Amino acid sequence: MAELFDDLYRELILDHYRRPRNHGELPDAPIRVEGVNPVCGDEIHLDLKVADGAIADIGFWGHGCSISQSSASMLTERLKGRPLDEAGRVTKKVRAMLIDGELPDSELGDLEALEGVARLPVRVKCALLCWNVLEQGLAEAATTA
Ligand code: ZN
Repeated sequence: MAELFDDLYRELILDHYRRPRNHGELPDAPIRVEGVNPVCGDEIHLDLKVADGAIADIGFWGHGCSISQSSASMLTERLKGRPLDEAGRVTKKVRAMLIDGELPDSELGDLEALEGVARLPVRVKCALLCWNVLEQGLAEAATTA
């Protein structure tokens, strides 16, 4: 992925891969969702606790390529403790950046490191996997609230 990312972003992505944030199951999580990307063999599980309209806690685990796991780690770091509407908005912006090639705005924070993935279509599914899984979780949260 060397030519697709500048050094700073590549380091950030590798750092999340090597030291994933919020990694592991949440005991007694009321919402558990998972997804796979069969093209690459990626698998992501997300555990969510929602309280007062916000993501009170979030944990992930899984296996797969560095892009899929780093994206999930960055997702949890960005959205832990954040309101659900913000989570929905950030998800839309990540998708717009990766699929439509839109420029990241400041709300994405470190997630802009994934921008280079948009130039490698086979990897877009890797980066989007955790976001698709999150959307399942948010939909579940909406029906159980
Ligand atoms: Zn992958």
